[in-house]
Amino acid sequence: MITATTRVAGVIGSPVRHSLSPVIHNAAFAAAGLDWVYTAFEVVPGGGAAALAAMRALGIAGLSVTMPHKEDVAAAVDVLDPASAALRTVNTVVLQPDGRLAGYSTDGPGFIASLRAADVEPSGMRVVVVGAGAAARSVIDALRRAEADQITVVNRSADRAAVAAALAGRHGRVGEITDIPAADLVVNATSIGMGSTETPFDTGLLRRGQVVADLVYHPLHTALLVAAGDVGARAVDGLGMLVHQAVLQQELWTGRRPDPAVMRAAAEAELVSRRQR
Ligand code: NDP
Repeated sequence: MITATTRVAGVIGSPVRHSLSPVIHNAAFAAAGLDWVYTAFEVVPGGGAAALAAMRALGIAGLSVTMPHKEDVAAAVDVLDPASAALRTVNTVVLQPDGRLAGYSTDGPGFIASLRAADVEPSGMRVVVVGAGAAARSVIDALRRAEADQITVVNRSADRAAVAAALAGRHGRVGEITDIPAADLVVNATSIGMGSTETPFDTGLLRRGQVVADLVYHPLHTALLVAAGDVGARAVDGLGMLVHQAVLQQELWTGRRPDPAVMRAAAEAELVSRRQR
């Protein structure tokens, strides 16, 4: 039951009403018996700093931050973790006991955790990341911190590819689609495949023994992941990243690690119910 002592967390974004985060976080709060509630706040573009002022004033314990506020919020918090400082974006804010607001980026670490949960260790791997947007940059930064050996970035816009590859320092380079067969791990970080059967590249380039990770999670079994399974590659879906970045957020807010299986089951049930609506 929500009472006067219930701690409040939520997501700010625009648009935000489609967010799966309330379902995921509330399921884990309930399973752990925590007196917390998580909701969604529609915040107009440009309103990120005002939302943080409201967070302080209202004592909102934690916020998730999604488009278009990630950069504004990074500029408005009091302290940044190393990944947020490198990316200049924040997806998680913690109201600390001293009143300061701390910004974190859990997308990249969530991606690495989703690989490890699937028994894939990225350290030493040759990786091709297709895409160079915000999600790709988080993943590239985290792959470098996880000591991936080579990180090749392939993107439609060459200038964005160069900026993204630079995040991996001497381990990063801009490449071509033809680099895919030599990779141990191939990551789709474009939005291609979202709500469609399109694939981001010719899946004839995939080979047996590779790991193929898709950040797209709607549909859960994207055409890319189905093709990966068909050639004997291992498929890692995008819901794992969404869940594991939420695990890290909740740990930052509450100090307790939530159960990823509870979060995933809630997200899957919500996706099924949305398909039926
Ligand atoms: P951005 O808009 O920042 O980047 C989109 C990327 O996709 C760019 O590299 C863009 O290329 C590329 N792209 C889009 N359309 C095309 C096209 N028709 N042909 C070639 N390239 C294309 O988006 P994000 O990085 O924020 O998100 C990317 C995807 O990752 C989304 O589907 C999002 O839902 C998903 N995501 C999943 C998360 C998870 O937890 N699983 C977390 C965050 C995001 P260009 O640079 O040339 O425009």
